[in-house]
Amino acid sequence: MNHLLLLILLGFALFYWVYFCRGRKGRPVDWQSLPTREQYLALHPEARGEDGIACHHCGHLGLQAQGRVHLADFRHQYACPRCHRVLFRSQ
Ligand SMILES: [Zn+2]
Repeated sequence: MNHLLLLILLGFALFYWVYFCRGRKGRPVDWQSLPTREQYLALHPEARGEDGIACHHCGHLGLQAQGRVHLADFRHQYACPRCHRVLFRSQ
């Protein structure tokens, strides 16, 4: 019986970690404080590659556009899928 209770608690802990902690990772509090694409490229000229813009932290290409609050949000921010850092925002 105690093992079942422990498994249920671990299940809730895993659910919390996946949906609340990981979902918030990389989302800045203030969207306006993010640099725009042009500002990002001016700050990190090495991030401009032939195939697109790379993450200046890990060099990964193929950044993901994310809606600020939800998928249909017009305020997009671009994040690195490898290191989960938010790099810049849309205009
Ligand atoms: Zn990265």
